[in-house]
Amino acid sequence: MAAAAGVFSAAAGVAACGGFGGGSPSDRPAGGQPTSGQPADVIIVNARVWTVDASRPEAEAVAIHGDRITAVGSGAEVARSRGPNTRVVDAGGRFVMPGFNDAHIHLMTGGAQLDSVDLKDAATPEEFARRIGERAKGAAKGQWILGGNWDEQGWPGAPLPTRALVDAVTPNTPIFVTRYDEHMSLANSVALRLAGVTAATPDPPGGVIVRDAKGNPTGILKDAAQAYVFKVVPPPTAEQRARTLRRALGHMASLGVTSVQDMGPDPDDVAIYEALASRGELTARIRAVPAEVPLAERLPSGPVRHHPSAFLRVSGAKGFADGSLGSTTALFFEPYTDDPASRGLLADEMQPLDGMRARLVAIDKAGEQLCIHAIGDRAISIVLDLFEDVRRANGPRDRRPRIEHSQHLAPKDFERYAQLGAIASVQPYHAIDDGKWAEKRIGAERAKTTYAFRSFLDNRVRVAFGTDWPVAPLDPMQTIYAAVTRATLDGKRPGGWVPEQKVTVAEAIVACTMGAAYAEFEEGNKGSISVGKLADLVMLSGDPFRVAPEAIAGLKVAMTMAGGKVVYERR
Ligand SMILES: [Zn+2]
Repeated sequence: MAAAAGVFSAAAGVAACGGFGGGSPSDRPAGGQPTSGQPADVIIVNARVWTVDASRPEAEAVAIHGDRITAVGSGAEVARSRGPNTRVVDAGGRFVMPGFNDAHIHLMTGGAQLDSVDLKDAATPEEFARRIGERAKGAAKGQWILGGNWDEQGWPGAPLPTRALVDAVTPNTPIFVTRYDEHMSLANSVALRLAGVTAATPDPPGGVIVRDAKGNPTGILKDAAQAYVFKVVPPPTAEQRARTLRRALGHMASLGVTSVQDMGPDPDDVAIYEALASRGELTARIRAVPAEVPLAERLPSGPVRHHPSAFLRVSGAKGFADGSLGSTTALFFEPYTDDPASRGLLADEMQPLDGMRARLVAIDKAGEQLCIHAIGDRAISIVLDLFEDVRRANGPRDRRPRIEHSQHLAPKDFERYAQLGAIASVQPYHAIDDGKWAEKRIGAERAKTTYAFRSFLDNRVRVAFGTDWPVAPLDPMQTIYAAVTRATLDGKRPGGWVPEQKVTVAEAIVACTMGAAYAEFEEGNKGSISVGKLADLVMLSGDPFRVAPEAIAGLKVAMTMAGGKVVYERR
């Protein structure tokens, strides 16, 4: 837990920085009192502290007692909190800011990905097979190898992989590795045998078993056919789940992520979060947001069970209004530019709409926050209609309904969005990733209000940044870089895709801290370095305000602190 000297050695001075504004005045917490008159456990000195607190945007030092911040100010001011046993951390002039809060992730899927074989950049079929073989060697008997995120498009001639490619290196290990878009997976012969898939197995509705000239399965199962194998993959044991969670927590700490909002988790995973929370093993704060359909089913049998603690809460409800842009299932008012026959699809749970409305009204009445996935402009518009219906049914209150992704907004809806107090829970990395091809799909006009972070802020809509990890990297520096530069990953738009929608570094940092805290009703505890708040802090290797925008993505975390404890240090 002690800070290693190496990290804090440099003694660069702390220079003042003009125009270094804090969050908006309304971002200020309800007010923190020093939690004790006792000496601090830790003081961080000689830091360039960016507080995200408008009442004091910058400081040099921070004092911590227990898990809370007890003083923020100049070195001299904070020195008053120093006692005989206070540990002094010299930040060496480094940039210190509130811990990152990722407003939208899939915690266990992300953790599982860290543990699975990484095939995304395997440049040839041989390399693909070699990596799987390596992995199989280290696997326990009968343990499945899943995930992988493979992409054959970079291979010479782009052939689909086959089980013949991997059978020799996986004689006893079932493998079922999935293409990065999740629309097809490769099974080896062991996996096909366990699933009972043979030449005689019919293609299921909505799925295809790819077959060779003799009619035998090649191992590739497309869309609904993947279920043949997935249904025989044993669910992970509690022990495996705990291991996955620990992997994810380690990854978060290394990236300065001290809070995450986990969308639609498996209830069996939430039980593992509780187990680790009760043993004091969580190093990042988890807010689990259950799926709305099962939540609504449970409501009549009594109040929703909560597990509030400093590191774990279960609250809110996650729903779906439409699909995704990549699969042309995001729902738009007008047809897709590259598929004039389609406007996208309303999600299953939205049909019939009366059913969705009744569930959302009931969930809101129980006091839960609504977090609804909507990507296309029409889906977003319908969700705003539903939010209006909910308000009409249950009366006004501070409900902060959220639209997850909020990718493509009809210009007419910004004002209504703000009036409803809806929160835009957005993932800037998608803008630089999907931005490579999105305009072909939706055209230049709709692109103007796509990933419209600037327009949201200008219309006084609260914005919370997240990543949708593992769909995008969990690293908040990539998120800030994406929001500030909008430079697409293919390097073709270095000046930014729809540059009018760029935000500043300061605004991006607010969205990753206070914005995300507000989006989970935690702005009194988190989101800024303020007296009385939780001591969740991050120290960076460089200063995002003083490096070139292109260099922000390369900044690293030097130290992460959660609840006053060091949970990560860079060596
Ligand atoms: Zn998601």
